[in-house]
Amino acid sequence: MTTVDVRRLSFWWDSLPDDLVGPERSPLPTSTTVDVAIVGAGYTGLWTAYYLATADPSLSIAVLESEVAGFGASGRNGGWASALFPTSLDKVARSSSRERAIALQQAMFETVDEVGAVAEAEGIDCHFAKGGTVVVARTPVQLARAKQEIEHHRSWGYGPEHHALLSAEEASERLGATDVLGATYTPHCAAIQPARLARGLAQVVERLGVTIHEHTRVTAIEPGVVRTERGDVRARRIVRATEAWTAQIPGHHRDIAPVYSLVIATEPLPQSFWDGAGLGERETFADHRHLIIYGQRTADDRFVFGGRGAPYHRNSEIRPEFDRDPAVFDDLWRVLRELFPAIEGHAVTHSWGGPLGIPRDWYPSVGLDPATGIGWGGGYVGDGVASSNLAGRTLADLVRGAQTSRTALPWVNRRSPRWEPEPLRYAAINGGLRVMASADDVEERTGKPAKRADLMAPFLGGH
Ligand SMILES: Cc1cc2nc3c(=O)[nH]c(=O)nc-3n(C[C@H](O)[C@H](O)[C@H](O)COP(=O)(O)OP(=O)(O)OC[C@H]3O[C@@H](n4cnc5c(N)ncnc54)[C@H](O)[C@@H]3O)c2cc1C
Repeated sequence: MTTVDVRRLSFWWDSLPDDLVGPERSPLPTSTTVDVAIVGAGYTGLWTAYYLATADPSLSIAVLESEVAGFGASGRNGGWASALFPTSLDKVARSSSRERAIALQQAMFETVDEVGAVAEAEGIDCHFAKGGTVVVARTPVQLARAKQEIEHHRSWGYGPEHHALLSAEEASERLGATDVLGATYTPHCAAIQPARLARGLAQVVERLGVTIHEHTRVTAIEPGVVRTERGDVRARRIVRATEAWTAQIPGHHRDIAPVYSLVIATEPLPQSFWDGAGLGERETFADHRHLIIYGQRTADDRFVFGGRGAPYHRNSEIRPEFDRDPAVFDDLWRVLRELFPAIEGHAVTHSWGGPLGIPRDWYPSVGLDPATGIGWGGGYVGDGVASSNLAGRTLADLVRGAQTSRTALPWVNRRSPRWEPEPLRYAAINGGLRVMASADDVEERTGKPAKRADLMAPFLGGH
């Protein structure tokens, strides 16, 4: 059994009340049989358990987790519960239809509210505040890109109630950063305390009769059986919810690439600071640079600010030491001071990181193979906080054999191509990271928007 100092995993973990941190749950005692076995106790696994247990309380459900519930990205992320889907609507429509792409986007809009509604109904105090997202433009090139983005939304029929272009003045009222020339704004995002959601959800599913076994590493997933270091769990239906760690499961080495995103948190900042910096509705924020940055104002008035992922590690390796990279943390702090010079003199109290999961075509998916009884959900890139809820609801439908509007969405039962074998994968991903790192400089030098490198953007941030 590994022992992790969980409070060090993120500011979110460090600020949890004691009753949400412990005691640790018992590992699988011995081989057993259940109706549904779920591998991974992050949002995907826990939401799946939640919707299954509420839909059919007679089901026996076991969640198997190698560390502790919320150990992965779910307890460490930037806390944007957004309606973002990492694949563009154009791309979704190309492989389905315009109507189905719009249905997926609509489901994502509704999912943000669903997360808030369940948290409220179940008494999970995850600091949910639906203030939307403001993305400022701080150079003429960024402003041009912001306008293009709005035109694109209009071409899909989304008006200003979904995506608005803000003037410099309107933008600065929401986010008092330097050099603001304008912004895009969408109401479809809530800021949350992510570890409170993950840990709270774990307690809720237990109350519903689900068993969570922590410190139980799954070594193989086969039709009808999950093999662990502590025995076998037989189940007619199995759900793999292992996101960045998927590559470690036999047979899945090339399904998902783990890529790191890194984050810092400041001490609580005084009201006099926020009078200038804004975010009065706890809007989540970013700017229109290619090299993604993402931030939120926490319920206790800190900045949590992330971006600029560290390099991809050969063979899709995941190690605790990859969670921290002083050069990236310094860079994040430099950018935050550039945006808000008045922050000078205040302290960064926490810095951390974690792996998110990227499929080869940046297209998340959820599904269940009726022939094997094995399901999966993930590949959310940096947009999994809300979409894992939609995945969980959909998996609950699929496991029960229910046909619903959700099971007709275009990401259901879709298979992404596999990543290249190493060393090609290593070269391709890190090459892409370098392209993105230089794209902003090239643009500012030439004054011309670089071709929107959507494919590479997700490598560099986590929202
Ligand atoms: C730093 C960072 C910032 C991010 N910011 C945002 C954001 O602001 N908004 C957003 O929408 N998304 C964000 N994301 C992405 C988001 O957090 C994830 O997409 C989401 O949490 C995925 O949930 P999950 O349950 O699928 O995976 P995870 O939460 O990673 O859970 C997977 C679980 O499976 C367990 N596991 C793995 N292998 C095994 C095994 N063999 N046996 C048993 N258990 C196993 C792991 O220990 C882990 O607990 C961010 C990610 C990171 C890392």
